[in-house]
Amino acid sequence: MTRDALQPAARGPRRLLGRIRDLMAVQEDAQKRLDRLTGIIAEETASEVCSIYLVRPSGALELSATHGLKPEAVHTTRLKAGEGLVGLVARRARPFSVEDAPGHPSFSFRPETGEEPFKSFVGVPILRGGRLVGVLTAQTRAMRPITEEEIETLQTVAMLLAEIVVSGDLVGAEAFSGLELRLSRPERFQGLALSGGLARGVAVKHEPHVRPARMVAEDAEAEEARLEDAIKRLRRSVDLLLDSGRAPMGTPSREVLEAYRMFAHDRGWLDQLREAVRAGLTAEAAVERVRNEHRARLMQARDPYFRERLHDLEDLANRLLRHLERNGAESPGQLPEGAVLIARSIGPAELLELDRRNLVGVAVEEGSQTSHAAIVAKALGIPMVGQIEGALDRIEDGDAVIVDGEFGILHARPSGEVRDTYDERIAGLAERRRVYAGLRDAPAMTRDGARITLSANAGLLVELMRLEETGAEGIGLFRTEFQFMVSDTLPRLQAQIDLYAAALDAAGGRPVVFRTLDLGGDKVAPYTRATREANPALGWRGLRMGLDRPGLTRYQLRALVHAASGRALNVLFPLITDPREFTEARDMLHQELRHAERHGHVPPSGVRIGFMLETPAIAFAPQACLAMADFVSVGANDLMQYFFAADRQNPRVADRYDPISTPALTLLKSVREACDAAAKPVNVCGELAGRPLEACVLTGLGYRSLSMAGGMIGPVKRALAGVDAARLGAWLDAAIAGGRPDVRSALLKDGENAGLPRELVDELTSI
Ligand code: PEP
Ligand code: MG
Repeated sequence: MTRDALQPAARGPRRLLGRIRDLMAVQEDAQKRLDRLTGIIAEETASEVCSIYLVRPSGALELSATHGLKPEAVHTTRLKAGEGLVGLVARRARPFSVEDAPGHPSFSFRPETGEEPFKSFVGVPILRGGRLVGVLTAQTRAMRPITEEEIETLQTVAMLLAEIVVSGDLVGAEAFSGLELRLSRPERFQGLALSGGLARGVAVKHEPHVRPARMVAEDAEAEEARLEDAIKRLRRSVDLLLDSGRAPMGTPSREVLEAYRMFAHDRGWLDQLREAVRAGLTAEAAVERVRNEHRARLMQARDPYFRERLHDLEDLANRLLRHLERNGAESPGQLPEGAVLIARSIGPAELLELDRRNLVGVAVEEGSQTSHAAIVAKALGIPMVGQIEGALDRIEDGDAVIVDGEFGILHARPSGEVRDTYDERIAGLAERRRVYAGLRDAPAMTRDGARITLSANAGLLVELMRLEETGAEGIGLFRTEFQFMVSDTLPRLQAQIDLYAAALDAAGGRPVVFRTLDLGGDKVAPYTRATREANPALGWRGLRMGLDRPGLTRYQLRALVHAASGRALNVLFPLITDPREFTEARDMLHQELRHAERHGHVPPSGVRIGFMLETPAIAFAPQACLAMADFVSVGANDLMQYFFAADRQNPRVADRYDPISTPALTLLKSVREACDAAAKPVNVCGELAGRPLEACVLTGLGYRSLSMAGGMIGPVKRALAGVDAARLGAWLDAAIAGGRPDVRSALLKDGENAGLPRELVDELTSI
């Protein structure tokens, strides 16, 4: 062979990749395959030595295959973390080359390998999902500079190698046992509980993943054309999102989209992709390769801004992969049975798009309790956990996982013991659900005979479908903004009418309370250009926005009036701080009723108008609003956040106050008394109404109507059956009068004496 024939630059890396593809097609022993691979790489890169080092669980790098070093060193030579030039490559997770390796201060001489005579050295990390799997090296006897192109080629090979190593037949092969090629050890991640319940299933990563079989291109020109086409479509979709100013929910903010646009036109990124395709990779593999490198850099980046930008770039890569895989559709596909979705983050629209028959749980690296995806997960009854750091890197597709939506835990590859424990808990949960189902058709009564109305909070069509199984006596709070938040355009009049009519149909004659749009604050619709506010919870939200945008509100009221044609209509206005706001809102509804009449529409059979009591200003002086209202709904989520000055969105402070405390109970009691004095029916619809102990306390304070997430009706009904509301009321009165600082603990301590159900006290005190 002439020297020229050995020059990789002259031949280009395509032939090398072609030979690797052929090698992959042959079934053979894992060690042999790696040995042959090192031979091919050495030959095609004109190197005398090519070696593969793989990471052991200790972090050491084990020489696992070589062409050119002594064969006896294979599986014997191990370099400690950071040792030698190989260690240097591993530590930096970047390629490194040197003309005179033995002269480098990091060079570590290992006589058993016989590498002394080799001068030039180049090493590239073998990365998978940003995780270091090993190092690939090439060495020559002569001192010679290493070109960029050669490094590129080795990086491409290293990516293929990562796939061969992790997904292929090395796992389980004797010579490789003990190597941490595939993540096999059980891991437990502690995060946040975002949606209750427990699920056992298999991990499905949300980000598209490229299979090794589809990494080497058959026809490089055709591949380049595919890549260009996908890039064009990707750019168009990003431009479209930006220009229309309406990013679908679940897609990033404008700021992030701007970053996308920048990257989508960024020569550096695109050139890297093109280069990889020209080298012989498929377009998908090229994206994966470039993404892997960015990932590895991301993991080392300290600067949060830089990290964010790299995250954006990674998301963009995912979009590009979806364009390639699904010919333009960016949405994720079907799921296997028992799928637990593992994602960095997910939007509510994306979650709704997933194949729900097979989705049993969700785990995200980001996410907060009030994130919209969490709301949707709750609505779907799917357990979800958030803030699971490193999930994407530490979990492989197909790994067994357990989602614990009760305690915010995710188990990956759980041990038999953990599985058994969860099987028991899952069985216990199923048993409890059976008990609740048995109570479904019975009215909710306290032990001392008070009748409590329990209704469901809802907002999405999917929840309406599950209404029947909850035993709800109606929809106590229909959050109309949800549908606005999960659709990418402003729902048209007919779409709104259809949704509201569907809610009325699903309730089958039971009352439905429609709350007008409560957008703003944390609830942002994609097409309303949100202006950044320093304190969104105290900002332009709810009825404030509704009154400033009368067109939007009137449109919605029209839809409600049309949908209720011939049926009872209950309308609730959110976030009132001044009675005049309520007056204005009522006037708008009356106007719409007159409009419907003028146009010959069949009017609702009756109209009741209420207001959300959720600001301290109204709680302390509710009379003016009460005089105008037909009913009241206490929005305890907001009422408490404003009362305690604790942002419900901020996990650092959201749980810092206790609604079972003297100030909160005093307030809630006075509100109930004011409503009674005005003879106006009152309902409590914040999250606390759906917690069994809190629900008992509310009945003790005299509330007789509660509205909660559908899934909580069973547990609340069961708890209420054991409460002596009158006795508890007396206990609470005394506690309030005495200004007790420790109401919750004292209440649980007094337990049955205070009128609480024993089972509930046992349950709560045994944790
Ligand atoms: C509340 O504030 O308690 C409430 C029910 O409304 P939302 O959670 O939608 O603000
Ligand atoms: Mg509210």
